[in-house]
Order: sequence, then C-alpha cells, then structure tokens
Amino acid sequence: MDKVELMIDGKRIDGRTADQLRPISIVANPIRNAAGSAYIEWGANKIFAAVYGPKEALPKHTSDPEKAVIKCRYTMAPFSSVEEHGKPGMNRRAIEISKVTAEVFENVILLNKFPGSEIDIYIEVMQSDGGTRAAGITCAAVALAASGIPMRDLPYAVSAGKVGDTVILDLNKIEDNYSDADVPVAICPRKKEVSLLQMDGNLTKDEFDTALNMIINSGSYISQLQIDALKKPYEKIEERYL
Ligand code: ADP
Repeated sequence: MDKVELMIDGKRIDGRTADQLRPISIVANPIRNAAGSAYIEWGANKIFAAVYGPKEALPKHTSDPEKAVIKCRYTMAPFSSVEEHGKPGMNRRAIEISKVTAEVFENVILLNKFPGSEIDIYIEVMQSDGGTRAAGITCAAVALAASGIPMRDLPYAVSAGKVGDTVILDLNKIEDNYSDADVPVAICPRKKEVSLLQMDGNLTKDEFDTALNMIINSGSYISQLQIDALKKPYEKIEERYL
C-alpha cells in the first residue's frame, strides 16, 4: 500500500489533535420493538444496536441452566462502506467482532439472574468509517442499559493507534487503513477494567502506555454521553411532575 501522509504540522487529516475524539452523539431507544436499543453517530460511523430478551435460549443445546447466554451479531449493511463487501452474510471479521463484543458484555451482565435464557444483541453498521467495533460496543452498552438488563458497569470502547512515532486516539478509516498500529480497547469504567484488547501492528511498551492512558482519559467524556442518552427520554416526564 502506498504511504499516505496522516500527520501534517502535528494535526491529523481531519484537523484533530493526537488525543482528540471525533464528534459523538448517542440516542437511547430509537427502536420501538426492541427490549432496548441505541443509535450512535461517531464521526461518520452510524450504528444501531438492539437488544432482545432475556428469553428462553433456543435451540435448547445453546442454553445454560446456570446462567443466561449472550448471543451477539455484528453486521455491516451492504451500503455502509466504500469497499466491496464480497459475499453477503457474516464474514470472518463480522464473526470475530460479534464474538469479542459478546465477551465484553458477558463480563458485566448479571448472567446468573436469568438461567436458561438468552440475551440477543444486534449491532447494525449503517455507515462505517473506522472504529465500528468500538462504537458498536459503546452503543450496545446503552441499548442493554435501556432494556433494564442488570449490569455491573456500563462499558465503553475506543481505539488508539500509531502514525509514525505519534500515538493517536480514535482512528478514522484512513488512519486505520494506513496507520502503523490499531488497538481497540473496551473499558469497564467503574474499576477501570479492560474487557477487550486487540492489537493490529506493533507498539512499544511506552507507546502502549500512552495509548491506554488516552483511552482511559477519554472515558469520562464517552461515559457521560452514554448516561445522558439514557436519561434524556425521562427528562420530559420529570418536568411534568415538577
Ligand atoms: P473497525 O471498524 O473496528 O475499525 P476494522 O479495523 O476491521 O474494524 O476495519 C476498519 C474499517 O474498514 C471499517 O470501519 C470499515 O469502514 C472498513 N472495512 C473493514 N472491513 C470491511 C468489509 N469487509 N467491508 C467493507 N468495509 C470494511
């Protein structure tokens, strides 16, 4: 791949500084027929998440008599990217993202409250511009909270990476494609636990520490957006009772 100039005079191609997030907005419960749902715009990413259940786990052999099972399906709409999608249906990347996303939520949902049941999480990418697994997890966390399923924490996720010697936060698609490293991380903010960490490319230990610090420092802002989205539908109700 030809090299693309990703940093010019200390600024990124979209004008951001190294540790600056893209604009993010989140709406809770846009989908009427889900138990809980959310919509996120994160830069040019546009993603829906919808949660169904807890309900009886079917087929039966997928159920666990001790706890709920999480079934997650991440998909990209055929029109979501400039790239060819190839065959329709789940590709290897979508299967991988679905798996790691399910694992993030298995860590926070109180699974033993729902033995024998399943909780379905659907993440539908309508428009993609890099970092969709992170944005999808951030969005699905809001959908799960909106459904009332009890969780220990409200995870968020964001990527960091490296361009030349500069560590950057929240890579967009061009940065993702041409950067020297890409590290999507999901955090459970209450205990600052890492529940997803993938790495494409190489970082030195110091660069990794810088990347993780950027991810953790961006957390209070992203978490607040999630909480605000969850509170918003109730604001009008509160006003009515004042
Ligand atoms: P993420 O979206 O989490 O950054 P990747 O690093 O795998 O995941 O992909 C980066 C970006 O490349 C995606 O957001 C998407 O815009 C594009 N992309 C990756 N895989 C595909 C695909 N199979 N079809 C279309 N676009 C893709």
